[in-house]
Amino acid sequence: MIDVLIIGGGIAGIETACSLQELGLETLIIEKEKQIGGHLNNWDTLFPTKRSASEILEYYTEQIRKKSITIYLNTTVTSIRKQDDGSFEVYTSREVSFKSKTVVMAHGFSLFNAQRKEEYGYKIYENVITSADLEQTFKQNNDVFVNPMGKIPERVAFIHCVGSRDEKSGNHYCSKVCCITAVKQAIKVKQLSPQTQVFCFYMDLRLYGRGFEEMYREAQEKWGVQFIRGRLSEVAENIDGSLQLKAEDTLAARPFKMSVDMLVLMVGFEANKSTALFHNSCGVACTESRFIQPRHHHLSANATNIDGLFTAGTSIAPLSVFDTLNHAKAAAFAIHSYITK
Ligand SMILES: Cc1cc2nc3c(=O)[nH]c(=O)nc-3n(C[C@H](O)[C@H](O)[C@H](O)COP(=O)(O)OP(=O)(O)OC[C@H]3O[C@@H](n4cnc5c(N)ncnc54)[C@H](O)[C@@H]3O)c2cc1C
Ligand code: SF4
Repeated sequence: MIDVLIIGGGIAGIETACSLQELGLETLIIEKEKQIGGHLNNWDTLFPTKRSASEILEYYTEQIRKKSITIYLNTTVTSIRKQDDGSFEVYTSREVSFKSKTVVMAHGFSLFNAQRKEEYGYKIYENVITSADLEQTFKQNNDVFVNPMGKIPERVAFIHCVGSRDEKSGNHYCSKVCCITAVKQAIKVKQLSPQTQVFCFYMDLRLYGRGFEEMYREAQEKWGVQFIRGRLSEVAENIDGSLQLKAEDTLAARPFKMSVDMLVLMVGFEANKSTALFHNSCGVACTESRFIQPRHHHLSANATNIDGLFTAGTSIAPLSVFDTLNHAKAAAFAIHSYITK
């Protein structure tokens, strides 16, 4: 029987495995994709350091090699069942199952599907993209910045809170990292294309982390990014492919129109679909927002309502890389004390 089976080879799963290995416990990671790293594979540079996401992934790839951590790739966990002896049977898409003393749900998050906000025109108008798409653009084309039509944009607008803090989408929570992601991406646009005018439309700016407020100041003072407290109501396409935005300046309480060459939707986090599968198969408790519910918000943030079943990373809520890694390290300590008790 394995000591710890970890579902998900994103940074949360890998950090949990590395910390557990140092504590002398045997781990197995099961990852549904063909590579480790989760969402970080899709990001260019990371806030607040502006260092490359691939640097973090290279570090963890090396740690996995050094510590000889076993990973099954291309394998999806489909259900978890608690056994009478207190252990777990974990079923996978490969028609094999694994028996483990403990299980860590490190299966991460999903991105909000921006097509659900039809009024913003994602996948209808060519020059409307998401923050995740923009990361891909930065990764593929590091020296020039053009919109999807191949034109250097004169004006780019970022729309905050797409699918978060939004009654209509059924997501009342704040996704926590999209304000600072918009700041990071706005700076990158200005670095690549100083002549482009950049506007961020926000409800409130939530810049809670170390170095975030400094980056926000840098965006305004060094790069001239303009932050407007405003709410977008509708997008329409002009004949040349540029976009007409109808919005309200919520400070001045006045409607206004603006034309831009590219619109970036700051999509929020949603609970990964696997969470519902695990809830149905073993009864793990979930929050109103459909993420995993930790046993105690302050005192037991990695345990769940089921003894031996733990969580790490964004399976519980939107988190930055920094917060994800801290949660994962804490998971390793909680599991070690559970197993050695
Ligand atoms: C647009 C955007 C930009 C961001 N930029 C930054 C940034 O600059 N700096 C920063 O600090 N944070 C950033 N973040 C946040 C960052 O992406 C997360 O903190 C991080 O990805 C969380 O890692 P995780 O391991 O919890 O989840 P994930 O990255 O989602 O990894 C989960 C893993 O589990 C696997 N998995 C899922 N279900 C199963 C299953 N059933 N069976 C097996 N495997 C499964 C997935 O394939 C995946 O590999 C950004 C987020 C967004 C949306
Ligand atoms: S972090 Fe900012 S953009 Fe994201 S949901 Fe919260 S307030 Fe909106």
